[in-house]
Amino acid sequence: EHIANQIAAGEVVERPASVVKELVENAIDAGGTRVDVWVEEGGLQSIRVTDNGSGIEPEDVETAFYRHATSKIGHGRDLFQITSLGFRGEALPSIAAVSKVELLTAAGDDGRARKLVIEGGKLLLHEDAASRQGTDFTVRELFYNTPARLKYMKTIQTELGHISDVLYRMALSHPEVAFTLRHNGNTLLQTLGNGDLLQVIAAIYGTSAAKSMLLLEGESLDYRISGYVSRPEWTRSNRNAISTVVNGRFVRSYGLNQALLKAYHTLLPINRFPLAVIQLEMHPSLVDVNVHPAKLEVRFSKEAELFQLVEDSVKAVLGQQVL
Ligand code: ADP
Ligand code: MG
Repeated sequence: EHIANQIAAGEVVERPASVVKELVENAIDAGGTRVDVWVEEGGLQSIRVTDNGSGIEPEDVETAFYRHATSKIGHGRDLFQITSLGFRGEALPSIAAVSKVELLTAAGDDGRARKLVIEGGKLLLHEDAASRQGTDFTVRELFYNTPARLKYMKTIQTELGHISDVLYRMALSHPEVAFTLRHNGNTLLQTLGNGDLLQVIAAIYGTSAAKSMLLLEGESLDYRISGYVSRPEWTRSNRNAISTVVNGRFVRSYGLNQALLKAYHTLLPINRFPLAVIQLEMHPSLVDVNVHPAKLEVRFSKEAELFQLVEDSVKAVLGQQVL
């Protein structure tokens, strides 16, 4: 059982950033409106995520660490039909198999909590404790028992970069949640959680970038688009500042990016790219996702209509700019 978990863990837990992603997704799924993340040494030493969400009921605390105990669906196709980010029920067992986990969780406001300690998939402690409602999850010494995987970890800066990217994506797709990210005591990201996407953009890219943003709005028969795109004067040397959020989920789509860039085509020099956060709303049946743990790449049913909408609405706001 332990060995099976270690092997399967590799699919979900590739690096510290994967742990951060799974823990933050769980915090959001639990209805948390405040999610704080502390990492030490690029997450290789420790990762701590706290939330003020629902907490885990005492009788469910151990089961949460059993593989697939909580799996909610059978097909990747159903992914956008469900509202939660997690769906496979394998994150916690996978993380616990390759690290030292400490969990403190309270499902109510009466101060009664549970504390769990698991090392390398082995339950070492499960006792009553005291805490306010929510969950406090610490993962130490990731891959301490899988040296082959540990060897593949890059520098602290590289791992931290991946962790920051995870938090940026979460913050951009959930402006209603207040996030902080701290590394070795330094605050790297702080969002207010007041639902204002522009504030999140300012927190990530800086206030001058946020000031250069134009409000995007539009709709077609099947799709609604909103978000922000940068004025043509404000450009970057790569596409990393182009974000797409579909039904509240951060996704990657080459087609969407191309549609956006087409709108900028005559305005930007070659090799310069905008900053953009494009939010799309659609019926869940119109979007399909590859069955991959990363859950990022998506396909759309009525691509032509969607890409045209993106191009036209971006052109519309940029057009107003030029005039
Ligand atoms: P999944 O998210 O796919 O259901 P996970 O392994 O990530 O599977 O989590 C297992 C279960 O543990 C979740 O379904 C949820 O019930 C519970 N859980 C995990 N983290 C939290 C949290 N921060 N707050 C409340 N419940 C949580
Ligand atoms: Mg999960």
